[in-house]
Amino acid sequence: MTARIIDGKAIAAELRARVSDEVVRLKRDNGLTPGLAVVLVGNDPASEVYVRSKHTQTQSAGMASFEHRLPANVSQDDLLKLIASLNNDPAVHGILVQLPLPKSLNTEAVINTIDPAKDVDGLHPNNAGRLAGGLTALSPCTPLGCIILTKSVHASLEGMNAIVIGRSNLVGRPLVQLLLNENATVTIAHSRSRDLPRLCARADLVYAAVGRPEMVRGDWIKPGATVIDVGINRLPRADGKTRLVGDVAFAEALEVAGAITPVPGGVGQMTVACLLVNTLRAACAIAGLPKPMV
Ligand code: NAP
Repeated sequence: MTARIIDGKAIAAELRARVSDEVVRLKRDNGLTPGLAVVLVGNDPASEVYVRSKHTQTQSAGMASFEHRLPANVSQDDLLKLIASLNNDPAVHGILVQLPLPKSLNTEAVINTIDPAKDVDGLHPNNAGRLAGGLTALSPCTPLGCIILTKSVHASLEGMNAIVIGRSNLVGRPLVQLLLNENATVTIAHSRSRDLPRLCARADLVYAAVGRPEMVRGDWIKPGATVIDVGINRLPRADGKTRLVGDVAFAEALEVAGAITPVPGGVGQMTVACLLVNTLRAACAIAGLPKPMV
């Protein structure tokens, strides 16, 4: 058996197109242009790439994009002042502080300063708590993308056995909550879990969000399972360059799974598309408009 490859690139493009249509409608009917502000502290090369991509895709969706670049030695006070001014700016509906921040800054205090209504990364404790309580919340973008990819294979996740490997605030924990909202039965595994292969073997849905190249082997996977690989790991190549691999041994899993996301071209594509979705939803909620159709 060879698994169906879930085309994250195509699904993300379709999602972005739906966001653009809604932005057109909002501008026409309500005179509202959703705006996303991204704050980048320092010049970490990976973060620069992500911020550039967010800027381009926000503009392509017809939204306003505001970039704020601060030096790595910015004081905590000045960063918090910038966030406070974005909280009060009516043109800004979403605020994203690119992580990781330099070690001199207190990430928790920075996240806690973002207005929860504009917290499009879904990391503010209000949003995390609401999500855990099954209430409407802005949810982190990568887990949202994982759910959309899964639903491109299964119309309903009700009653399915899911395993989420990894329990970070950014991916694993919110993904568990979103799966519960879909009525899946969820196991959450982490570095202290025992016998991961056995836990995986009973899962219809496998989510790997660990950051360990090709850790999940083909023979861990139940035949026909859907595998969503969140991991992004860079491995050296013989020619001195690097290649990207996920947390799943893709070639092995391809022979066993029913459907699988590639790396690159899977989950990564969905993260920014879901950021646009969250910005659109935040803009509508702040303006007191109904939830958009995306
Ligand atoms: P993280 O904060 O480092 O969390 C990693 C999780 O994996 C932790 O919960 C850790 O367990 C668990 N873990 C570590 N070693 C393990 C092992 N041997 N067996 C089982 N669990 C283990 O990472 P993250 O931010 O969630 O990111 C995870 C991966 O996803 C990374 O490769 C990252 O680059 C990628 N990522 C991709 C996107 C995207 O857009 N595609 C977005 C975000 C992240 P403990 O809690 O016990 O330490």
